[in-house]
Amino acid sequence: MPFPVEKIRADFPVLNQQVHDKPLVYLDNAATTQKPVQVINRLSDYYLKENSNVHRGVHLLSQKATEDYEKARTTIAQYINAADSKEIIFTRGTTESVNLLATVLEEWIQPGDAILVSAMEHHSNLVPWQQLCKRRNADLKIVPVNDKGELDLEFLKKKLNPQVKLVAVNHISNVLGTINPVKEIVKMAHDAGVPVLIDGAQALAHTKVDVQEIGADFYAFSGHKVYAPMGIGVLYGRETWMRRLPPYQFGGEMIDRVSFDEVTFNELPYKYEAGTPNVGGALALESALQYVQNLGIEAIRKHEDVLLEKATHQLMKINGMRIIGEAKDKTAVLSFLVDGVHPYDLGTLLDQMGVAVRTGYHCAEPLMQHMGISGTVRASFALYNTEQEVDIFTESVLKAVNMLR
Ligand code: PLP
Repeated sequence: MPFPVEKIRADFPVLNQQVHDKPLVYLDNAATTQKPVQVINRLSDYYLKENSNVHRGVHLLSQKATEDYEKARTTIAQYINAADSKEIIFTRGTTESVNLLATVLEEWIQPGDAILVSAMEHHSNLVPWQQLCKRRNADLKIVPVNDKGELDLEFLKKKLNPQVKLVAVNHISNVLGTINPVKEIVKMAHDAGVPVLIDGAQALAHTKVDVQEIGADFYAFSGHKVYAPMGIGVLYGRETWMRRLPPYQFGGEMIDRVSFDEVTFNELPYKYEAGTPNVGGALALESALQYVQNLGIEAIRKHEDVLLEKATHQLMKINGMRIIGEAKDKTAVLSFLVDGVHPYDLGTLLDQMGVAVRTGYHCAEPLMQHMGISGTVRASFALYNTEQEVDIFTESVLKAVNMLR
């Protein structure tokens, strides 16, 4: 059955508009995805009909909000196949999930220890570890990336030793589109007794995520990159870890009993959810994952791979074109440079033609240094993009390049 992309587009009213008098071609999905009406309605229904604070009310609305919030947690746990819904901690997004972990792992890192990250990390999964290493007099070790944009697994393997206290890598690179062999990485790290955090910010929208199959100890992601609103995300943390780690923030909800002198902390996951949570966001994230599930992640991936392949093939015909990121296992992200053309100029002209792409470092400045480039143009695809949009995009690139040369 062909992928029902036209029907899907009707769920995303924002796509149906003109920018600079041209039909919008939205190819900035790695930065944030658009939201379907089902998700928007879930959020507005919550505020129109249910709004109430969770976990502390005897009244009906509060009980309903609590029930729905916890149901969302269960749905999300099932979606990523967590062993238990208490392993799902709601956060603001990937950045907060990583910072949470970097805070609570403070005591786990001793002077002389090391943390391994890859050279293709987003700043969100790099700077928190860099800063933790500085605070603890530990070493941050960088796993190199080859010219194709693939991780050097031999290097990783060689560097794993008892001093290494964490491996933190992304599942899918937001710059290169590389799908990292996370299961293999986890196996290698676990064989050396090292826990692993996977930054799944780019993964949920494009590939199946099964945290038990991957074996990850921690897995972070953002709702807004998988058709949910901004300001909601998840840290999956294996129960055995989260039970023994200290709390992140202090306040309401995360406590059990409090006196002026002492406190005992709440059970998981509430120990990590101090203060009023983003209830509407959690319900909308549940709805977004159900939306993806109804279409089927394999079908989505297949559709996006067709777009990526077509776009790559067509761009390659342009003189001086250089694709950044040619990993064997790759999805949904197409970064490129054209000889003699500045990415910013190209991006600006594409915008004038209605095509929204992103230019620059993509929050991965060290990767750019590592690859000896100063930025790229990045087109990133989502389930609602069409082959016709790919044609408009590649024709626009050609037109813009000819204008700029
Ligand atoms: N990690 C990766 C791979 C990303 O692509 C991003 C965002 O682009 C992040 C982390 C940070 O996500 P957020 O800004 O939603 O916290």
